[in-house]
Amino acid sequence: MTSFDLDACLRCSACELATTRQKVVVCRGNPKAPLMLIGEAPGAQEDQTGLPFKGRSGQALDRLLIEAGFNIEKDLYICNAVKCRPPNNRRPKKNELTACRPWLDKQIAEVNPAVIVLTGATAVQAVLELKTAMTELRGKWQTWQGRSVMPIFHPAYLLRHAAAKEGGPVDLTRQDLSAVRTRLCER
Ligand code: URA
Repeated sequence: MTSFDLDACLRCSACELATTRQKVVVCRGNPKAPLMLIGEAPGAQEDQTGLPFKGRSGQALDRLLIEAGFNIEKDLYICNAVKCRPPNNRRPKKNELTACRPWLDKQIAEVNPAVIVLTGATAVQAVLELKTAMTELRGKWQTWQGRSVMPIFHPAYLLRHAAAKEGGPVDLTRQDLSAVRTRLCER
């Protein structure tokens, strides 16, 4: 596999999202981090800034990560399964996920994270090719290509179920991120 070519990624026209995007959204954080977090696809804010998880979902995610003890710029590399914004924030189509997959594979190979967090069903489907419900999958460690993989709820889902009750989605995500931190500390 050839290495990740940023310029080529920024010029990508492998699918129709290239015709509607403002910016290709590649990553933020530390390319040498042992932890990689993969989301679904950019939204409006991300499309404008060129940075993943910069809108409301991203702010909610950042808060949970900080609460779990992570230094976002140092401890994580954050990216998405699809690098260009789908119009009206619809879910990426199968052919878009397929077209974008080589970029994701190259990012994973380059960063070489010991641990990967997958936020939401699209990221889980893109990487693990599993269609199991997130309520089943979240919080359960998977092994993929020798890496520990933790599926968690998508932050947009958490915003829709924001009531901070014990055993609710936010509480469960706190537990999942705490398990991720423990696993990284144990290495
Ligand atoms: N912003 C992103 O960058 N990815 C998501 O999955 C959602 C919002």
